[in-house]
Amino acid sequence: RSWKESGLPPRLLEIVDQVGYKEPSAIQRAAIPIALQARDLIGVAVTGSGKTAAFLLPLLVYISDLPPLDEYNKNEGPYALIMAPTRELAQQIETEARKFASPLGFRVVSIVGGHSLEEQSFALRNGAEIIVATPGRLVDCIERRLLVLGQCCYLIMDEADRMIDLGFEESLNKILDALPVTNEKPDTDEAEDSRAMQRYLGGIRYRQTMMYTATMPPTVEKIARKYLRRPATVTI
Ligand code: AMP
Repeated sequence: RSWKESGLPPRLLEIVDQVGYKEPSAIQRAAIPIALQARDLIGVAVTGSGKTAAFLLPLLVYISDLPPLDEYNKNEGPYALIMAPTRELAQQIETEARKFASPLGFRVVSIVGGHSLEEQSFALRNGAEIIVATPGRLVDCIERRLLVLGQCCYLIMDEADRMIDLGFEESLNKILDALPVTNEKPDTDEAEDSRAMQRYLGGIRYRQTMMYTATMPPTVEKIARKYLRRPATVTI
């Protein structure tokens, strides 16, 4: 199957073509159409599978529907948050994200250890639609009020199993419990809802949450049960 059948809008297909990805990978073929239906998703896939583009492309479709981040709302924080276990992975995601996000005019900022907080908070003050962060540094930034997540409505946990192994469970809980944009929309017939309806039911915006992991130990399942809403599971 080709990119054309993925359901991505023409502008993104153009960018995918410019980036040079000829064919979607297995995880991209499986996960992108589900994510575009505004469903929560658990992706069981390893690095090298193309999982980054699998969660990034639907993320970009979602935030393209939102009002531009400008003087009036940039202080409410980013629209999307991607959490990863290590600085190295966060920076790989940042690089991959910029390939697709920059042509659309979206800004990607990473919040990781090893860079000065001043430098990162400067980038945040200028406004960024997408943040890539390690959980420890992110909690630090939130507690110092350098970052708010007042309008974060698209959340990715990448390599969730490794985040738990590295001791980030408490940080994840802190971050997710504090998100004001809810994912608890009333149960309706999903098939009848248009994408926009699902996101803006009754004028309320709902959060879409995705988790990618290589393994599914009980600790990861617990986080999934707590923060994902009727997720689809895709295993590659
Ligand atoms: P990931 O599993 O997301 O870390 O991606 C692994 C590598 O595959 C990265 O270097 C991506 O740039 C590349 N990649 C992802 N999707 C595709 C694709 N559909 N075609 C070619 N390369 C890809």
